[in-house]
Parts: sequence; structure tokens; C-alpha cells
Amino acid sequence: MSTATLTIDLDAIVANWRALNALTGCETGAVVKADAYGLGAARVGRALMRAGARSFFVAVAEEGAALRQALGPAPAIHVFSGHMAGDTDMIGDLDLIPLINSLEQMIRHVEGLPGHPFGIQLDTGMNRLGMEPGEWAALRDIALGQAPRLVMSHLACADEPDHPMNAQQLQTFLDITDGIDAPLSLSNTGGILLGPEYHFDLTRPGIGLYGGLPHADARPVASLEIPVIQCRNIEPGESVGYGNSFVTEEPRRIATISAGYADGVIRAMGPKALVFAGDEACPLAGRISMDMMGVDITHLSKDPKTLDLLGPHQGVDDVAGYAGTIGYEILTSLGARYARRYIGG
Ligand SMILES: *Cc1c(COP(=O)(O)O)cnc(C)c1O
Repeated sequence: MSTATLTIDLDAIVANWRALNALTGCETGAVVKADAYGLGAARVGRALMRAGARSFFVAVAEEGAALRQALGPAPAIHVFSGHMAGDTDMIGDLDLIPLINSLEQMIRHVEGLPGHPFGIQLDTGMNRLGMEPGEWAALRDIALGQAPRLVMSHLACADEPDHPMNAQQLQTFLDITDGIDAPLSLSNTGGILLGPEYHFDLTRPGIGLYGGLPHADARPVASLEIPVIQCRNIEPGESVGYGNSFVTEEPRRIATISAGYADGVIRAMGPKALVFAGDEACPLAGRISMDMMGVDITHLSKDPKTLDLLGPHQGVDDVAGYAGTIGYEILTSLGARYARRYIGG
């Protein structure tokens, strides 16, 4: 088999959720948008539910519908994009909680699904989603009269603890939620790590569950083992891969492995990336192709059967560093072609 194997450690996800939960005195939710950051929302959701998670968050109603089928009727499933045109039946039938982010959505919700649960999303400076303070001031009494399940906002700079934006958004959130008795939520993973004043009633960790920064103490969750398809010797002056970008000055042994940019091995990481044969690091040789890449294995004592891109020696943030991106993008880029293997849970 030449398909690479992505192993997802559900016990590590549960341990990471518990570790974040232990940092707060409030409820800990779980963000499972984008198929749980590429790791499988149904499997991840079920494992977290068994561990005690009761509140889940997704980006769009379709994700919420799929999650409801996987988790059954018990947990609360919140939708960040709120109540969009065309979503009314799905929100109603599958008991989703839209996080209403504008007056227009509020009207759509109360007209389309009178009495159906909803939450409120407020903008505190990120200018991405949520009602602006002025819009909220006009709507506040009407919305609070309908008993929202949650009132939330989102931090723009939570992964930079010293950034003044954090305190500024916290103060804005305190101001615009003053006197509200609905449950409040402000923090993603980074917000949890900022300290108790950011926790409120419910936290919304995502990346910290999946082993990524800023949850530096997280247990690694994903490992990726890529089969070697072929090995060959090359002589001085010979090149490897498209564009002849790698030309050797001495004899080398090159392995061709079965994953490429179509599998989320971002092409831009090319010249810097390493893969591992057990404990031994091996540099890539030449450009990353769509389905394959070359690896310099000259220093290994024997040809490996597989090489690891993600594993004990290299996590999602290391790999992100090669491409100048973040662990979130590495995880959500993980290809659909991988055989996914779950352990634990
Ligand atoms: C994605 C997201 C989260 C989770 O953020 P992490 O940084 O992955 O913990 C929480 N809240 C909102 C609104 C989000 O969009």
C-alpha cells in the first residue's frame, strides 16, 4: 500500500481537553469546526463527549448537522456563522444553536424559528464576526428578553499574552455584557492560557485539543507515516525532481515517498523540511511534487519502509515552521487520501 497513514490519538485529545479544563473553574467546550481541524469531527466529538464535553462549536450549519448525527441529541452544538439564509430547517430539525451576529440574523431567527435556542456573538474589536457595540445596544433588551443560551466574543491576539489587544477586548466584553445573566464566553485556547479573568462561564478551545501552540504542554495528537515507494543512487551532477532544483555534488541515495502537496505537504516547505526514519532526520531533496517527494537517505544504514513527517521528533508546529505558517493550517490541510487510524478514545 502506498497510501500514507495518519494516526490520530484520541486519548491525547481527551488528555489535552482535560488539561485545559483543569486550568479553569468553568465549563470547557470543544471547537470541532473544519472536521475537528482535519482530524475527524465525529470520532473526536464522541471521544470528548465520553470525557464529559457537553458544548461543541462548528463554523457552519452543515458541520453542525453532521455532528448532530454523530453525537445524538444530548450535546449543545453552536454554529459560529449564526443563522444564514437557507439554514432554518437544518437549525430547527437538528437542534443547532446559531450564534447570531447581526440584526438581520436576529430577525431571520425569531421569524423562522420562534422560541428556538440561539446565542449572541459580539464584536469586541476583531472586526470579523459579531454585532458591533452600537448594534448590540439597540438590540440588547429584545435579545435578552428571549433568553440567549450564550453571549460570546472572540480574541484576536490571544496567542500573544503581552499584546495590549487582550486587555482591551476583555474590557470591552465586560462593558457590553454588564448586567447580563446569560452564560458568557470569550476564550479560545490562547484565552484560557491568559488567566482566570478571561474564562467566564464556558471556554472554546480548538487547537489546544489537537496538540498545537499556544498549548505548549499539549500531548501530540497526529502522526503521519509515509511509505517509501522506491530508492535509488544518484551520481555527482545528477538532479532530483521538477526544475532540477536539487543537484548533488557527491553520490547519494534518494528515497521517493508517497505524499505531496495534494496531501497537504505544503510545497513551500520544500527546501527546509525534514522527515524521520525512526530517530534519524532526513532532509527533502528537490521540490515537493503533487503526490510524491524525494528524500536524501544517504546516511541511513538501510532503506526505510516508511518515513515520518509528523511523529515523536516533529510536531505540527515544527512542520508549520518549514512553510512559514501555523499548526492550524498544517492540520486542516491534511489530505483526504491518507488512511486515518484512530487509537484510544
Ligand atoms: C476557531 C475558533 C475558536 C477556537 O480557537 P483555537 O485558537 O483553535 O483554540 C474559538 N472561538 C471561535 C469564535 C473560533 O472561530
